[in-house]
Amino acid sequence: MAKTTRSDDWGFPRWRPYGAKSREAVRIRLCDREGCNLPGDRPAPKAPNKPDRWMFCEAHAAEYNKGWNYFAGLSPEEAARRAAEEEGEAAAFRTAAQYQWAGSGDGSRSRDEMRALDALEVDVDADFAAIKAAYRRLAKQFHPDVNRGDKAAATRFQQVQASYDVLRRAEERRAGRPG
Ligand SMILES: [Zn+2]
Repeated sequence: MAKTTRSDDWGFPRWRPYGAKSREAVRIRLCDREGCNLPGDRPAPKAPNKPDRWMFCEAHAAEYNKGWNYFAGLSPEEAARRAAEEEGEAAAFRTAAQYQWAGSGDGSRSRDEMRALDALEVDVDADFAAIKAAYRRLAKQFHPDVNRGDKAAATRFQQVQASYDVLRRAEERRAGRPG
């Protein structure tokens, strides 16, 4: 009895001109099944949660999926959709990681800026005019000239100045950037 092995049946992507007339021929991706010269337009994941795909014709995609328990019972379309959904989840995770790394509410402000906004008692989406107004109000309120001997006020005054400095520099960076 001839033992059937598929391991060496599945070749590397092959591309070739497709079309009856050479002038109209377009290069198309062929089915990855060795010996099959039909267009391979059915993506089939090489492994779960991996972006690598085989590209098969409809018949060979069905054969491939039937032999793989993970997609057992799924049509090529269903298998491809499931794979696409998993890829979407992976993309969403990457976006979330990037969002966290930015460290701010809308992804445009650094952690230092967020702390500075908090120190100036303004909202995270405050524009620079609002930041400037808050700075002037707080600087006047905690100024050493009107809080003589008050260490807490002096500390707060320094914090307000440093915070405004962080936000002013950030504003200047953004203003100097095209767009
Ligand atoms: Zn095929």
